[in-house]
Amino acid sequence: MHVDAQQATTEPLAAEILDELVEQYTPIPVPPCRICGADLEIERLSSGQPTRYVCPVANRQSKKAGINDLPALDHYMASQDWHTDDSDLRVVALVAEVRALRAAADGRRIVGGIVRETTNNPAEAPGRGKQ
Ligand SMILES: [Zn+2]
Repeated sequence: MHVDAQQATTEPLAAEILDELVEQYTPIPVPPCRICGADLEIERLSSGQPTRYVCPVANRQSKKAGINDLPALDHYMASQDWHTDDSDLRVVALVAEVRALRAAADGRRIVGGIVRETTNNPAEAPGRGKQ
């Protein structure tokens, strides 16, 4: 992390740093099988190593038929995908909360993730129709 620890403890985090945290800790979706489009399943999970995903269809076929089923084996090999996932949704939620608090402090509100300026015009504030 290229954030100066001293700066991080004495000054509010810049918006760009919040963006970086969201990008770094948001889970990266695993793509579908590039051969048949099925959702990939975890084949091997070991700490410190990228997780290996394979196509469940090809996995079943190649286990049943063994190495003699070349199309199934090709499908299996081609479907493999390695992912390193350092995601942590708690960090993403924390950044959202920081942004909401800052927006509230600035007199703005966040609706559906979009920052909106508060308004005194009831016609522009559907949530305040009772006033
Ligand atoms: Zn497949």
